[in-house]
Amino acid sequence: MAIRLVLIGPPGVGKGTQSKLLSELTGARPLSSGLIFRAEIEADTELGQLAKDYIDHGHLVPNGVTIQMMFKRLRQEETRQKGFILDGFPRTVRQAEALDEELDKEQVTLDGVISLQAPLDVIVHRLTGRLGCTKCGEIYHSVNHPPHREGLCDKCDGFLVVRGDDTPEAIRERLVVFEEATAPVLDYYAATGRLMAIDAGRESDEVGAELKQRLNLTCA
Ligand code: ADP
Ligand code: ZN
Repeated sequence: MAIRLVLIGPPGVGKGTQSKLLSELTGARPLSSGLIFRAEIEADTELGQLAKDYIDHGHLVPNGVTIQMMFKRLRQEETRQKGFILDGFPRTVRQAEALDEELDKEQVTLDGVISLQAPLDVIVHRLTGRLGCTKCGEIYHSVNHPPHREGLCDKCDGFLVVRGDDTPEAIRERLVVFEEATAPVLDYYAATGRLMAIDAGRESDEVGAELKQRLNLTCA
């Protein structure tokens, strides 16, 4: 049975890590709006060019193009069959409403909306040391999880870089945007009784184990 989940949380809370784990456990397709935007920027597409400036400043990309970009993937046969783990979308109430309309049309429902929560100091610490592999996307941290060789990925030898929006200014802005635009999405889902809050300030293994248990995932 295909599972359909949404992960919501501030930047640096570990959405990407948990999304990867959940997709491995369930076979559902991971759909990360941030990753998709970064791939579009990398490929220098029209959408990437439009999104880059918003992203570098820590602002949201406008709802219209974001919704279009995500729906394109939600409508693909692969997503219909496997289900999905949405990470980074919906990020505004408008996006959440649009997603509900879309799922209604497809006659499917969400199996869960997971709110990942962590104290502000933990989040800021995680974001300020974060390094990502340019080749395979593996995430490192200069203090918490350094690579064995400086600047190189343990898994694939790819170069590690600091994300363009992990500057102190953009981090601050993303946290403000989360409170203003995305926290209301949590209220939106709470009102429908579909929200599951998880303490994500712990080691990612512990967070993963709790998710697995609370979602009744017995596989793998
Ligand atoms: P983080 O959660 O660490 O901020 P993401 O990779 O999820 O990182 O997103 C990076 C950036 O991509 C966001 O700051 C925003 O500019 C843009 N973005 C991602 N998802 C959305 C969305 N659903 N709506 C608008 N902009 C988005
Ligand atoms: Zn790598």
